[in-house]
Amino acid sequence: MERSKVVISKEQIALQYEYMGKVRALLGQEERYALVRTYGCQQNEADSERLAGMLHEMGYSITEDEKKADLILVNTCAVREHAELKALSITGQFKHLKEKKKSLLIGICGCMVSQEHRKEDIKHKYPYVDFLFGTAMLYRMPEILYTRLVKQKRQFFLDDNSGNIAEGLPVYRMNEFKAWVSIMYGCNNFCSYCVVPYVRGRERSRDPEEILQEVKALAEQGYKEITLLGQNVNSYGKDLEEPMTFAQLLERICQVEGEFTVRFMTSHPKDATRELIDVMAQNPKIARAFHLPLQSGSNRVLQRMNRKYTTERYLELVDYMREKMPDIALTTDIIVAFPGESEEDFEGTLEMLRRVEYDNIYSFIYSKRKGTPAADYPDQIDPSVASDRFARMIACQQEISARKNKDYTGEVLQVLVEGYSKTDKTKLTGRTEKNRLVHFEGPEELIGQHAAVLIKRSETYALFGELAQL
Ligand code: SAH
Ligand code: SF4
Repeated sequence: MERSKVVISKEQIALQYEYMGKVRALLGQEERYALVRTYGCQQNEADSERLAGMLHEMGYSITEDEKKADLILVNTCAVREHAELKALSITGQFKHLKEKKKSLLIGICGCMVSQEHRKEDIKHKYPYVDFLFGTAMLYRMPEILYTRLVKQKRQFFLDDNSGNIAEGLPVYRMNEFKAWVSIMYGCNNFCSYCVVPYVRGRERSRDPEEILQEVKALAEQGYKEITLLGQNVNSYGKDLEEPMTFAQLLERICQVEGEFTVRFMTSHPKDATRELIDVMAQNPKIARAFHLPLQSGSNRVLQRMNRKYTTERYLELVDYMREKMPDIALTTDIIVAFPGESEEDFEGTLEMLRRVEYDNIYSFIYSKRKGTPAADYPDQIDPSVASDRFARMIACQQEISARKNKDYTGEVLQVLVEGYSKTDKTKLTGRTEKNRLVHFEGPEELIGQHAAVLIKRSETYALFGELAQL
C-alpha cells in the first residue's frame, strides 16, 4: 500500500476537528454525557480511548453510567461468536434506555459491524441504532455524528477495509498510569480461522517519530507502564519508506527518559526474532514477559491454521528466550477443537503446555467465522468433544499455574498497584512485571505506584501478601 494513501492527510484530520467544534456548538452549554462500551482486545480499548477523546473534545463528559448517558457508543469485537452475541445483546438492552430517553443517541462501531452481513443486521433489526461505522472510519466519527444530528437520519458507514492511519486525534486515557500505544494496525497473516484481517485491513505501521513522541509525552506525564500494540508487532516497520524492525523501534523507545516499563503484544512466532529477544535481554525497561500465541501443539493443525511455524521452531524460540532471560514469564493463546483436530493432535497441545510450562494461557474453543477458510472445512468438531477437551486443557494448565505461583511464597515482589480488589474491597490489587496478580492490604495512596509486597500464600490465579518492611 502506498503510504500517502494510507496516512490520513492533515487537512482531513483538521476537517474532523471542525466537525468536533460544530457538534460542540450544536450541543450548547448543557452538560452531556457519553459512554463508550468496549468489547474485545487491547487494540479495541485503544481505539475506544480515541473515540472517547473525540467525544470529550465535542463537549461530552465521559461516563460509565448508562442511565446518565446522552450518547452510547458500542465498540464491538468479531473474533469469536460469543463476543458478537454479547455486543448484540447489550445493544438490545440499550433500546429500553432509549424508550425512556428519546434524545439518547446510540452508535455502534468496531470489528463486528465492519462485516457487511452484520451491518445489514443492525440496519434492519436494530432500528434504534442511530449510526454505525467500521474500523477504517474511526477518525470520521465526528462527521458521522454531526450528520446524524443535523439530518435527523440514521448514518451507516463502511469504507473499503484496506485500512488507514489517523494521527493527531485526541485520546482520552481511561487509566492514569498504564497506557496503550498502537504501533501498527491490521494484519496480513490470514490464519485460516481468523476474521481480523478482513475487519481491520492490511498491516500498516505508524511512523516511528509519531510513536516516540507519544511515548515521550506519556513518560513526561508519569505513566508507569506503556504497552505497544499490534496484531503482529514483529512485522512492524516492513511497510515504512525507511524500513525498520520492531527490535530497533523497541531500542529507541527504551532510550526515552523516564521510569516506565514497556510491554508489547502480540508476537507471531513465525516472525519473532533472536534480535528482538536480545534487545529485551539488554533493556531493563522491557518487562520480562512474553506473550507468544501457540494456538496448537500439532504441526498438522498448525499447517491447516496457516500459522507458518512448527512446534520445533516455537520451542527453539522459547529455549533461546529462557537462555537469555531465565526468569521470563511466558503466556500463550490456544485454540481447542479446530476443524479436524484429532485426539492425538490435542494431546500434542497438552504436551506443549507441559513442556513450556506457561505462566498462564488464554484458551478458546474454536468459533466458526463467516468468510474465513476454516469455516468451510468439512471436519468441524462436535461441541461435546470440544468442551471436554477445553476442560482437560484448563485442568492441565491450572496445575502448572498453581505450581508456578507457589514458588513465589516468601519472595518480595514489586507490584504496580492498580486499585482496590473487586472481590475484597479491603485489599489493594496490582500486577508484577511478569503480570502476576497480587492482593494485599495497604493505603490508598499506593494506587498508581509501585509497592514491595512480601508474598504469604498463593492460589492458581493470584498471590496474597503484605507490604514488605524494607
Ligand atoms: N493477532 C493476535 C491475536 C488476535 S485474536 C495473534 O495472532 O496472536 C486473539 C486470539 O483469539 C488468537 O490468538 C486466537 O487464539 C483466538 N482466536 C482468533 N480467532 C478465533 C476463532 N475463530 N475461534 C477461536 N479463537 C480464535
Ligand atoms: Fe488473526 Fe493470525 Fe492475524 Fe493474529 S496473526 S490477527 S490470529 S490472522
